[in-house]
Amino acid sequence: MNSVELAGIGMTSQRTRERLINRLTEQGITNQKVLDVIRSTPRHIFLDEALSHRAYEDTALPIGFSQTLSQPYIVARMTEILLSAGPLSKVLEIGTGSGYQSAILAQLVTEVHTVERIEPLLIKAKQRFRKLGLTNVSANLSDGCFGWEKQAPYDGIITTAAPQAIPEDLLSQLAPNGLLVIPVGSGESQDLRLVKRIEDSSEFDQIIVEKVKFVPLLSGLSR
Ligand code: SAH
Repeated sequence: MNSVELAGIGMTSQRTRERLINRLTEQGITNQKVLDVIRSTPRHIFLDEALSHRAYEDTALPIGFSQTLSQPYIVARMTEILLSAGPLSKVLEIGTGSGYQSAILAQLVTEVHTVERIEPLLIKAKQRFRKLGLTNVSANLSDGCFGWEKQAPYDGIITTAAPQAIPEDLLSQLAPNGLLVIPVGSGESQDLRLVKRIEDSSEFDQIIVEKVKFVPLLSGLSR
């Protein structure tokens, strides 16, 4: 990808991106590092060309296979919450989708591991990580209902699809004091929850952050 394509023109330009950052700030996002990474990351390359002119609107957008790239506010909020206890080294994301959330995280933590159940989405996301030169993201085709045992434990886990109840494997793959940010529930509205493992025990603190709307966490793979 050439530099003009990455920098963006017209509706994908730096000025358009700045308006998005202003909006996120107005909505209460305060972590400057998160805002800086969102400002400098080209969201338009995570969308099909026909939709790229809408990339810097604060809205969820379709990525095919009935899936969506989350609204920038939600990406910012979940990232900010995940980072709230300090810097993280190893993070697991469930639901790679377009790869946008992984790309944001990759610039804020040491290692990102991300899993997706729909193979064609995963293939495109991997191409985008390469284009952006992100070498600290490992992306895998697997059912995130089981977390990703091979790389566990994680300082942080972020789930971008909503289960009805928190999968046990996600809790068990958290490192001591690790944080899990996850939408839980079904239908039109779910609770975004923040779960913290208490030290290295099998006990967890939990708070509800706000109401959100995510696609459902589904089981099994789709090739
Ligand atoms: N983080 C993504 C959001 C994509 S939407 C982005 O920034 O674009 C949620 C994604 O979760 C979808 O791509 C969907 O296929 C995926 N998903 C749903 N259930 C899953 C599961 N059990 N394991 C892995 N991925 C899952």
